[in-house]
Amino acid sequence: MRVSDSKIVAKLAELNVELQHSASLSDLTSLGIGGTTDLLRIKSHESLPDLLNLLDANHVPHKFLGGGSNLLVGDGDLPWVVLQLVRPEPDVVLDGNLAHVDAAADLGRMITFCAKNDLGGMEGLIGVPGTVGGALRMNAGAYGMQIGSYVREVKLYRAATRKIETLRGHQISFEYRHTSFAPDDMMLAVILELPSKPYKEILQGIRICNEKRRSSQPLGQKSAGCIFKNPPGVSAGRMIDELGLKSLSVGDAQVSDRHANFFVNAGHASAKDMLALIADVRERVQKSFGVNLENEVVVWNA
Ligand SMILES: Cc1cc2nc3c(=O)[nH]c(=O)nc-3n(C[C@H](O)[C@H](O)[C@H](O)COP(=O)(O)OP(=O)(O)OC[C@H]3O[C@@H](n4cnc5c(N)ncnc54)[C@H](O)[C@@H]3O)c2cc1C
Repeated sequence: MRVSDSKIVAKLAELNVELQHSASLSDLTSLGIGGTTDLLRIKSHESLPDLLNLLDANHVPHKFLGGGSNLLVGDGDLPWVVLQLVRPEPDVVLDGNLAHVDAAADLGRMITFCAKNDLGGMEGLIGVPGTVGGALRMNAGAYGMQIGSYVREVKLYRAATRKIETLRGHQISFEYRHTSFAPDDMMLAVILELPSKPYKEILQGIRICNEKRRSSQPLGQKSAGCIFKNPPGVSAGRMIDELGLKSLSVGDAQVSDRHANFFVNAGHASAKDMLALIADVRERVQKSFGVNLENEVVVWNA
């Protein structure tokens, strides 16, 4: 979608929003799949209510992009614009055991920065790409931990009130790859309360998690992490593996030969290829195990 109305373009500049025409979502997502649309880069949290009023008043639909590491975006000319926060400097400020973090901060860099200051707890998330905002929205987790456990409060744009508000941790429910935020809420910043731990000990935990990922995941290939959520008590990857579906492909979309729940873009896969592969695997698992797999990857279909 192209924002071409000169009045809207002028207003965006006033709101300190940078407009990039025809951004390619395949360059902005870890799967390397997706068509083109205009990208609106937000430099000030405070401009969000006015920005969203402007877009709604002019019937311009939008989506929020973090680091693009959990997204499968449709092909071609996309019928909505994409909003993304610009990372401020500094993006993490420490105050005792509290880390004040901007939603645009890189998750891995934030964990390393806290570790160097003897704040741990998040070792399991090392190697999870993307932003802190995306991790909050998805309640990113791994190896028995999840980011939601450390949230003291979240500053967000709330779609229900059309205002920037602060929610305390106990007002938010964090479940397995699911949160109680409304679909149009936008995470702006978070305060994490992290346990004190010596850097050396945290580093050891980080090394163990890194090794686990290296030995089981196709880290050199384009993916969005796990495609499906694990149903209660069952591993989606194990079911797919048991059906012998590793390396199954549609065009360049392929079930990884290392981890059956990672689907990779082995070349120039389209969203259509990847969606067909997901549907095929889901149907086979349903037929053999009677289990309906739910997507973990967020699909923005055109
Ligand atoms: C190699 C690899 C390994 C991975 N391993 C794991 C893992 O172990 N555990 C795990 O949980 N995930 C994993 N993932 C998936 C992914 O990294 C996480 O879900 C990550 O937290 C997504 O963050 P992001 O910023 O990239 O979000 P995006 O992919 O940009 O967006 C994901 C969703 O969050 C929304 N969103 C993003 N930013 C905001 C914001 N500021 N406000 C509101 N909504 C927002 C988007 O609209 C979208 O709905 C992995 C991915 C890869 C590629």
